[in-house]
Amino acid sequence: MAAIRVLPELLINQIAAGEVVERPASALKEILENAIDAEARAIHVRLSQGGVKEIVVSDDGVGMAAEDLPLALARHATSKIASLADLESVRSLGFRGEALASIAAVSRLRLASRQHDAPHGWVVEAEGEWRAPARPEAIAPGTVVSVRDLYFNTPARRKFLKSEATEYGHCEEMFRRAALSRPDIAFTLHHNGRVVWHLIAGTREARIAALAGEAFAQAALPVEAAAGTLILRGLVALPAYSRSSRDLQYVFVNGRFVRDKLLAHAIREAYRDVLHHERHPAYVLFLELPPEAVDVNVHPMKIEVRFRDARAVHQFIFHALERVLARPMGGHDGQTLA
Ligand code: ADP
Ligand code: MG
Repeated sequence: MAAIRVLPELLINQIAAGEVVERPASALKEILENAIDAEARAIHVRLSQGGVKEIVVSDDGVGMAAEDLPLALARHATSKIASLADLESVRSLGFRGEALASIAAVSRLRLASRQHDAPHGWVVEAEGEWRAPARPEAIAPGTVVSVRDLYFNTPARRKFLKSEATEYGHCEEMFRRAALSRPDIAFTLHHNGRVVWHLIAGTREARIAALAGEAFAQAALPVEAAAGTLILRGLVALPAYSRSSRDLQYVFVNGRFVRDKLLAHAIREAYRDVLHHERHPAYVLFLELPPEAVDVNVHPMKIEVRFRDARAVHQFIFHALERVLARPMGGHDGQTLA
């Protein structure tokens, strides 16, 4: 065996990128989360060639000071937590301080930002180990992140990228999740110069109808339940609107899209008596609970969570949905759709 050595910074970041930047869509997810954490009111996404050629996200959030721009690209540098106590009660989507460092290690990254009271903005660029020092830049208040040529310097990784259409599909799904999670924020999506989505800020119902389609909105029953510190809101489709795949199943925990076996099981159980076992229910649900009651630091991509009191959460979801689904049905085949 060779002697032990500490790895160079770039390689460390490229290894981390393997976890958080699986494909263009995962870079997009991180950049969208940063824009949301920055309190943006409007977020614009422009993709080229499925996000492989370029991802550009602009927001009108709080922006960054010139001296913070290089830090934003540094590993383990974050403005979102400062202590273990902060981590345990974290309300922001990000907190690991490694997304931009990881993306910068495997792409050509440009980060331009302007705080609202600043006379102008600043821009930094990164490519592998190379960094351009911050220069003044004329931009509107907010932040513009541009990621070009993902994996240009990690060919082994690049080989795993799928067709433009497939990568685009994953990016659009990330966009959809972000837009569903925050109907109060305006979102647009362009792909190869064409407008795909133009979503104005509005109600949760309007946003869901726009993204999940009118048919789902028509077939959906509102959910509004609370027990102790747990709150569940959203829409669940009548069993008559069931799907042959799980393509319309969204659960957000404190605004974060999650895939969670416990939650999926509770929902499935609530549908058990009213849905054929080969069909899949459709739902968009938002669970809110105190941040201390859920651990989001389970997985680098933060798509999994762990509940302090899993049993209570399961029972709450199950009973809330069972009540909603039982009410309008009165029988197994239920009412017909309008
Ligand atoms: P994290 O989100 O976990 O803090 P990131 O690497 O994603 O880590 O971002 C590092 C830091 O850069 C953030 O903590 C934030 O201060 C700043 N930042 C990133 N994106 C934006 C943005 N769109 N607007 C304002 N600040 C941002
Ligand atoms: Mg982040």
